[in-house]
Amino acid sequence: MESRTETHCPYCAFQCGMTLVREETADGPRLTVHSRDFPTNRGGLCRKGWTAADLLTSPERLTTPLMRDRKDGPLRPVLWDAALDRIAGTIRATQEAHGPAAVGVFGGGGMTNEKSYALGKFARVGLGTPNIDYNGRFCMASAAAAGIKAFGLDRGLPFPLEDIEKADVILLVGGNPAESLPVMMQYFEEQKRRGGRLIVVDPRLTPTAALASLHLQITPGTDGALGNGLLNVLIQQGHLDLDYIARRTTGFDEVRRTVAAYWPDRVERITGIPATRITEAARMLGTAKSVMILTARGPEQQSSGVDNTLSFINLALALGQVGKPHGGFGTLTGQGNGQGGREHGQKADQLPGYRKLDNPEHRAHAAAIWGVEESSLPMPGLSACELLAALGRADPELPSIRVLLVMASNIAVSAPDVSRVQRGLRALDLLVVSDIFLSETAAMADIVLPISQWAEEEGTMTNMEGRVQLRRRATCQPDGVRTDLQVIKAIADRLGRGAYFSDDPRAVFEELRRASAGGVADYAGITWERVATEDGVFWPCPDTGHAGTPRLFAESFPTPNGKARFNPVNHRASAEEPDQFYPLYLTTGRVLSQYQSGAQTRRVAALTDAEPGAFVEIHPGMARNHGIRNGDRVRLVTRRGDATLTARLVTTIRMDTVFVPFHWGGEGCANLLTNPALDPVSRIPEFKVCAVRVERA
Ligand code: SF4
Repeated sequence: MESRTETHCPYCAFQCGMTLVREETADGPRLTVHSRDFPTNRGGLCRKGWTAADLLTSPERLTTPLMRDRKDGPLRPVLWDAALDRIAGTIRATQEAHGPAAVGVFGGGGMTNEKSYALGKFARVGLGTPNIDYNGRFCMASAAAAGIKAFGLDRGLPFPLEDIEKADVILLVGGNPAESLPVMMQYFEEQKRRGGRLIVVDPRLTPTAALASLHLQITPGTDGALGNGLLNVLIQQGHLDLDYIARRTTGFDEVRRTVAAYWPDRVERITGIPATRITEAARMLGTAKSVMILTARGPEQQSSGVDNTLSFINLALALGQVGKPHGGFGTLTGQGNGQGGREHGQKADQLPGYRKLDNPEHRAHAAAIWGVEESSLPMPGLSACELLAALGRADPELPSIRVLLVMASNIAVSAPDVSRVQRGLRALDLLVVSDIFLSETAAMADIVLPISQWAEEEGTMTNMEGRVQLRRRATCQPDGVRTDLQVIKAIADRLGRGAYFSDDPRAVFEELRRASAGGVADYAGITWERVATEDGVFWPCPDTGHAGTPRLFAESFPTPNGKARFNPVNHRASAEEPDQFYPLYLTTGRVLSQYQSGAQTRRVAALTDAEPGAFVEIHPGMARNHGIRNGDRVRLVTRRGDATLTARLVTTIRMDTVFVPFHWGGEGCANLLTNPALDPVSRIPEFKVCAVRVERA
């Protein structure tokens, strides 16, 4: 017997449609992935998607709760009731002794909309703690903050994907979709086939940059200067859309004055990009009919991430492109539900529908939906890195987290300056981790809860276009495993708050729709049935008769006066620049065959065969100076620690820069090295640049 289910890939924000086939065989069920002609991926899948069924049958799957009786004791299997009773008992005792804020929650951008919503509500209503944040703070926070400042709204792509292939010129800053969103490349390839041009800004000649008409090989940490420099040249060349600026924006004059200081020779000195190339890029942008500017984690994961992003938004506004077909500004989301995961309340400062936790009207709306007093809702709490810095903290003058619940996140690998985070995790009174595998974080936990995964449960996900789509259940979960929603409800039950929570995803989605109604990310008109039958629906969608909104900003912006805002920004040096002790730049990123912290993909044989372990890319010229050959083991040292990796000599990277992918833990973990310096607005850490020294191991 065979069953076929149309569902979506468990990995990246492209959320490719796929068909999962389940066949009953004498050896048990056999699951295989098949192509599906969904509107976004058009039948395409990358090797991660093709091998995704291996996650469902992995022998490493957790199927029973595990518990440690003492900090230095082993994890042992226990019954669910024993695990849940201890969790609830410890939460109660901790909050009685130290207050509600001593319990923290850390979520993930891969969770469905329903789980993201339920986890945010659980923190505020179930636990009464302000301290919830999630790993999206590590990736999308700068783009989100910049989008809200400029447009009054944050949606990764405020236009449909098809616009990409129709743009005359695309400026892609600090993104490598050929490896991070491989199926998306069909849009860039089609744009090129139609005669369009692509400009890529990246310290590395990545597979994406290799497709470009122009590659600007930027010095890490200088993106904001480039954005200002391009606008300077466009102003000098008279390539602005002055009518658009006057009608649809405010604040241009101050930006004009600011970028006057970014003439090409000066920007060359800051960015390392020849002035002639900056001028050439500006000419391409200024003479095109339609221009699309896309940023990704390169400029965003910096201590000036918001300002960097705003410098490119200023460009798109000055060219009069935002809101027009085939042009505008967008940002490439990374995690599976990177978009929906940041809309419904698992951020430290946020309520569902993109409402704000410190806005009295927004609080009253959420409180009414949840059936609680507005005054009972906590105010915004610690952002992700600040929450992790507070783990087990002894200083009574500063916030301290003593119990931490982690869902869908592997912070023992993915957080910056990860040694410090690991020390904090060890210092907790109780660490609870829900996961499908014994990830590095789960292995440190006092209690591990085995949960169901993508094709074993149903839920909605929102892709980078703002398209809400349905991930269907295609197979059963193993005995002994529960869903995240069941875990949340079970803990809430034991805390006497169970009446506020449901473990049925459809019921949670119905509540989410009501909670988001009237908000920026309005899902009120998006029913479960519509999502299932319409290949997804774009938010905002205020009522069931509304078609959804693939293209935003066509007529006005959701700001008080309906206009977009220019924001003057200046280049700020990275928090840590190379010096005589640490003479090179370190930057981090992704490879094709792994995903995020690797907790899932490192357990898929075909992916591990393709990319078996951590490495560092070094330019041969730099390697020669250090006596390093291809394949040598080398040690990278920063002010936070050191990592040992295999050298990969490539001419595609700047001489002054080394690159380490972040998908591995252990001695090759990139985040042993990275700098937790934060952007002052978005609180994103500076993953993309710090100072490093290279030594032979
Ligand atoms: Fe999955 Fe992303 Fe690959 Fe599509 S591009 S198959 S969503 S990992």
